[in-house]
Amino acid sequence: MEAKTLTGACLCGSVRYTVQGDPQRAYHCHCDRCRKATGTGHASNLVVAGTLTWNTGEALVRQFKVPEAQRFTNTFCSECGGRVPRSVAGSGTVMIPMGSLNDDPGIEPQARIFLGSGAAWSCNGQVLPGFDERPG
Ligand SMILES: [Zn+2]
Ligand SMILES: [Zn+2]
Repeated sequence: MEAKTLTGACLCGSVRYTVQGDPQRAYHCHCDRCRKATGTGHASNLVVAGTLTWNTGEALVRQFKVPEAQRFTNTFCSECGGRVPRSVAGSGTVMIPMGSLNDDPGIEPQARIFLGSGAAWSCNGQVLPGFDERPG
């Protein structure tokens, strides 16, 4: 894919970022770490080969690395708790929580992964009815 400029922000908008690079892969990850970090059934993670720049709010960014994990690090705004991207050490890639993006990254999740760790109630994207807004 060609290089893109992607921008995003946390929930409160204090932390704003720009990622430049090539979107490589995107997954809905159902692993227990992603579930705990997001409080949801799965995280939607985008890996970009490129660079991460903080536009505002870098001082608010906090990281929690799961001690027994090789890499898993939750990166978030300390003001609102919204997840923000992180540079993956030594890989030249940036891991972006897709919900923090302001732009369409032009790539859709290719797979749902770690389904074996998924919660029984987690959506599978196939069987539930869809609504544009909260149903009445
Ligand atoms: Zn925030
Ligand atoms: Zn995961």
